[in-house]
Amino acid sequence: MAVRCCAEPAPARLLILADSAATRYSVSTCAACGGAVIEYYSYDDWDTGDPAGYEKYWWWRMDAGDTAAFREAVTACPAPLDADCPCPVHRALKQRTPRPLPPSSESPYDKAEVPRTRFTVDEDGAIRWTSP
Ligand SMILES: [Zn+2]
Ligand SMILES: [Zn+2]
Repeated sequence: MAVRCCAEPAPARLLILADSAATRYSVSTCAACGGAVIEYYSYDDWDTGDPAGYEKYWWWRMDAGDTAAFREAVTACPAPLDADCPCPVHRALKQRTPRPLPPSSESPYDKAEVPRTRFTVDEDGAIRWTSP
C-alpha cells in the first residue's frame, strides 16, 4: 500500500466533497497516526477501479493536530458523506483544492509525494484550505 500520511495508513472517510463520474474529492482521517489525507482524483475516460489508472490524482496530508481541529469544524456539516450537501463547509472546501499542488501526477502511485496542507476557519465560520 502506498505511503500517504504514515507507514501503515488506516483511513476512514470523513468528508466527501465530490463523487461524480469525472471527479472524486474526499478527506479521510487515519486511525493509525491521527492525521488525514485529502484525495482528489480526476479521470478522463472511465473509472477503472485501479488508482494507478486514474488520469490525474492529487493528495495532501494534514497533521494530527490540524486533523482534530478539522474534525471539529466539520461537525457543522449535517451530511459529511454527501457530496451534494449544500452546507457552508462543503461549499467552501469544494471551491478550491488545497495548495500547493503536488508534483507531477505522472509519478508512480506508490511514490507520489504527498504535500502538507492546513486550513483556516475565518471569524465568520468560513473554512478554507491554507498553505503550511
Ligand atoms: Zn496515517
Ligand atoms: Zn456539508
